[in-house]
Amino acid sequence: MRYVDIVVVGGGPAGAATACGLAAIGREVLLIERSLGSHHKVCGEFISPETAAHLVQLGVNKLMRVGTCGGLQPDLSMGDLIIALSATPADSTATHYVLGEPHAPTADFGLVHEAVHQAKHLGKPVRVGPIVSSDIFYQPDSGLAGRWSERGILAVEMEAAILFTLGALRKIQAGCMLIVSDVVVEGEFVRITDEEMRAAVDQMTELALHVVTA
Ligand SMILES: Cc1cc2nc3c(=O)[nH]c(=O)nc-3n(C[C@H](O)[C@H](O)[C@H](O)COP(=O)(O)OP(=O)(O)OC[C@H]3O[C@@H](n4cnc5c(N)ncnc54)[C@H](O)[C@@H]3O)c2cc1C
Repeated sequence: MRYVDIVVVGGGPAGAATACGLAAIGREVLLIERSLGSHHKVCGEFISPETAAHLVQLGVNKLMRVGTCGGLQPDLSMGDLIIALSATPADSTATHYVLGEPHAPTADFGLVHEAVHQAKHLGKPVRVGPIVSSDIFYQPDSGLAGRWSERGILAVEMEAAILFTLGALRKIQAGCMLIVSDVVVEGEFVRITDEEMRAAVDQMTELALHVVTA
């Protein structure tokens, strides 16, 4: 029989934060979560800068974004794995955090290196390179994706630039792994099924868990 001060049931954000807070003040806590691994739930899956700041307050020292993106290179296919090296901010949030001064949001090399290593270990092909973060989902500038593509940007998504910037400001490791859910420049590509897409995201999530706990 094991005795603890407090049992917290449910390891979502509320339960995990409660358990962290209690452990931080020296209480012995048992956190019980019914799901064995990462799991899907109804959610936009967006980490806001405020949420990231709260996670850092709780003692989180690695932020790994795991999500989907629009592929910007014609040879990319749905389900491909991308590991971001840098994220050009195509909106002003990251720029506001550095008081308008020039800054290149860059992923932590240790996380990038470990992610590439783990992907190769699993035999999962991976593309490593620059991405762009934009807060515009339906881009009114029809030529912008093509210009990003020509400059060698691999993909567009919505969060990495601010996470990399917060990583630099808060002195924590930040990384980003993405599955291509759409290819937004012209070119031949094969669409995969929803099941294959889900399998690709699940595999990436497992990979990310290995990376952040390595
Ligand atoms: C449509 C939608 C979109 C959203 N998009 C975002 C977003 O983009 N970004 C964002 O930050 N937030 C988003 N949210 C909000 C976010 O999902 C919630 O604020 C957050 O998940 C609440 O955390 P929680 O810990 O209270 O509950 P949950 O996240 O639901 O966690 C509860 C946990 O308890 C576990 N559990 C339940 N019963 C038991 C049991 N009997 N034994 C053991 N374990 C149990 C469950 O498995 C679960 O892991 C969204 C919410 C919705 C509805």
